Amino acid sequence: MTDETPVVDVFRAELPDAVLTPGDDGYDDATSPHNSSFAQTPGVVVRPRTADDVARAVQLAAQYERPVLVQGSGHGAAEPVHDTVVLIDTSQLNTVAIDTAAHTATVGAGVPWSAVNAAAEPHGLLGPSGTSPTVAVAGYTFGGGVGWFVRKHGMAAAMLRSVEYVDATGRLRRASEDASEPVDREALWAFRGGAPVGVATSLEIGLIRVPELWTGYLLWPADALSAVAAAWSEATADIAEDVTSDLALLQLPPEGPFPEHLRGTAVVHLSYASPEGPAHLQRLRAAVVGAAEPAVDTTGPGDASALAAIHLDPPVAVPARGIGRWLNRPSAETIVEMFTAARVGTPGGMNMIELRHTDSRASFPDGMQTRMPAPFLLHAVAAAPDDDGRRRADTALGKVLAAARDADTGRSAPSFCEGTLGADRAFSADDMARVRAVKDSLDPARLFRFQRDPVRTANTL
Ligand SMILES: Cc1cc2nc3c(=O)[nH]c(=O)nc-3n(C[C@H](O)[C@H](O)[C@H](O)COP(=O)(O)OP(=O)(O)OC[C@H]3O[C@@H](n4cnc5c(N)ncnc54)[C@H](O)[C@@H]3O)c2cc1C
Repeated sequence: MTDETPVVDVFRAELPDAVLTPGDDGYDDATSPHNSSFAQTPGVVVRPRTADDVARAVQLAAQYERPVLVQGSGHGAAEPVHDTVVLIDTSQLNTVAIDTAAHTATVGAGVPWSAVNAAAEPHGLLGPSGTSPTVAVAGYTFGGGVGWFVRKHGMAAAMLRSVEYVDATGRLRRASEDASEPVDREALWAFRGGAPVGVATSLEIGLIRVPELWTGYLLWPADALSAVAAAWSEATADIAEDVTSDLALLQLPPEGPFPEHLRGTAVVHLSYASPEGPAHLQRLRAAVVGAAEPAVDTTGPGDASALAAIHLDPPVAVPARGIGRWLNRPSAETIVEMFTAARVGTPGGMNMIELRHTDSRASFPDGMQTRMPAPFLLHAVAAAPDDDGRRRADTALGKVLAAARDADTGRSAPSFCEGTLGADRAFSADDMARVRAVKDSLDPARLFRFQRDPVRTANTL
């Protein structure tokens, strides 16, 4: 018997069939997050099937003063998880209901975007999903959510209608604009792109009508970077808002559906999507193809599965370390300088650096991060499995940021700061005071340990 045993027994007795401890079937799965940077060895994993299970787990954690960590996909995992922690694994909160008239999806908190899009697509709808199909709606939306239709429709957080959640006393609540208690209205404001303020059990989110999806990606050898960057930079200055595109320099895997001469090398990668057919894509395509002949071009009519594959995100767990930074329009020279500083594919360099075109005039409701912070988003990521690797990655990431200085807004994008608990500067002092007040009401003892929670890391602009 250890000190841990009685608490574990209480959890098992109260939540039969939902509790996993080391050695149980499913424990390794629940503690193997998509970002594999840090070991997870929680004393108790709770895999709830209902909101009531979540509430009971939180009540017990509060009673025994155990910190609570919530995990869906684990894409956002960013710190070691020790044996005192109660880890709530939301993967079994997996229901999806589409309201075809209201254009909304109501989803369990563990649902990945692939499941939402599979259910919505037959109705001509898609979610405001991002590049990876395995990222969950919850963590993505609570961090803002920059997806493939972001230019025309804005951030996912702006489409978040309501959240059912559990506060730190274990009470079930509903955050919505018309909630009767002011704190639940404030909770929705925080969940919208800023910080979770309780354990979400389900979310209601808007869907996008997609009349004619066109999508694809182009690849060039790395030496085409200057020509492609100049053409893309010029084209994005006035391209129609139904086109969202992303320019990257990335290391291709040694195998895969790529020409042999590109496998295992650094390549220039341009991916894009238009929900309204090819018309506006043609101008962008003409510019970049005219600048340098691509070695690969997959452009064409697409579906949700094609959309989920164009960014070439790794399908397996990676110990990722990254930065995300909002930029003003960079010159073509700055793009080349940033991408060169990333030293993609070289020892100690990045696996990938990308620049997303996010310029958007979409309307947005009140929320901590519902308005697009800037017209471009810089994201760079390295593989860093240990402290040494993380130090090296941070040095390299610092050089990328230095190269971005002419366009840097100084504002971080925490969702893209993989494998780190926070981001230096993301929110204004007023927003930070407002979210602290919400947390003071709902979780005064800070029972919940959310990753990249601005209040945990005090990342004021
Ligand atoms: C390969 C890859 C591609 C990505 N692409 C994009 C992209 O295109 N656009 C974009 O905006 N972001 C993108 N991201 C970033 C991603 O949105 C964040 O990593 C996000 O935190 C992942 O959410 P999750 O729920 O899947 O992960 P998890 O690790 O399960 O959760 C991350 C955090 O979200 C919060 N959270 C999750 N579930 C709950 C809950 N039920 N209640 C309260 N809080 C909760 C917690 O703070 C948790 O620590 C990408 C990340 C990766 C690794």
